Amino acid sequence: MQKFGIIGEHLSHTFSPLIYNELFKKHGVNATYKVLEIPRDAFDFIVKDITSDLAGYNVTIPYKSKIMGYLESVSQDAKEIGAVNVVNHLKKGFNTDWQGFRKSLENVKLKGKYALVLGAGGAARAICYALKKMDIDVYITNRTRERGEKLAAEFNLRYGVPSLSKVALLVNATPIGMYPNVEEMPSIDLSRLSKKCVVYDLVYNPRPTKLIQEAQNRGLRTIDGLEMLIQQAILNLRVWSLDELADDLERNKNWIYESLEKVRQS
Ligand code: NAP
Repeated sequence: MQKFGIIGEHLSHTFSPLIYNELFKKHGVNATYKVLEIPRDAFDFIVKDITSDLAGYNVTIPYKSKIMGYLESVSQDAKEIGAVNVVNHLKKGFNTDWQGFRKSLENVKLKGKYALVLGAGGAARAICYALKKMDIDVYITNRTRERGEKLAAEFNLRYGVPSLSKVALLVNATPIGMYPNVEEMPSIDLSRLSKKCVVYDLVYNPRPTKLIQEAQNRGLRTIDGLEMLIQQAILNLRVWSLDELADDLERNKNWIYESLEKVRQS
């Protein structure tokens, strides 16, 4: 049996096993996808052992940068972003976060001048990389100003908050609003956004987040993190040479929304 998994610190919120295990079952692939939690202070001692027999795996908070020191090679885009979120059987690391984000915006027409990214962590780095590739003018803002300014300088972006009426795309790349803190939302005055602004929340648990709900109440177009997660899963399956499953997921996504709803209600 082939083994896949996700390594990270606190993984109770992840939907990844549900997606991959369901696809393995449907396609009769003899494989399993497991959650592999690694405490921060144990990472350096056990990461090699935990991943040694995996045919491929995902990496999430807080190890997306740290894992790079344990791989045989890293793709150029992942090097530029400074984060790996998927590893193949040859221990090569890739970043499908930025590609998944870009793909999720493929059919979205942005109207306005700027994108405003909230956060400066691993996800924000991938988002900024994608937005640069898409030729969009980006502002970023972050709780720890110094970290935000560093990212802005590195990617040649602007730090701060532009006039909100000129923002075409607002992206929450922080965990604000993520389960169990479901009543929280980023402190951005949504009433000052243009009616054409698209609000994108990378958080997908709960669904909808408070940010998405408030944006919808104001009639704004919204995209939630599940869309990026699915696009990224399609790309991850290709990294693992499971193209048939990737093609299937590309054609049929609705079952994921339904399965997740069932999990949430159970
Ligand atoms: P990370 O590297 O830990 O970075 C978190 C960022 O959020 C940092 O900039 C941090 O600011 C900021 N932040 C954290 N808590 C905050 C708070 N209470 N108030 C204000 N700012 C806060 O995490 P990440 O990997 O970038 O992930 C960020 C979020 O995106 C997570 O919720 C993750 O689940 C989600 N995500 C979703 C997808 C998807 O496919 N949908 C993919 C990747 C990530 P400081 O610099 O001040 O610490």
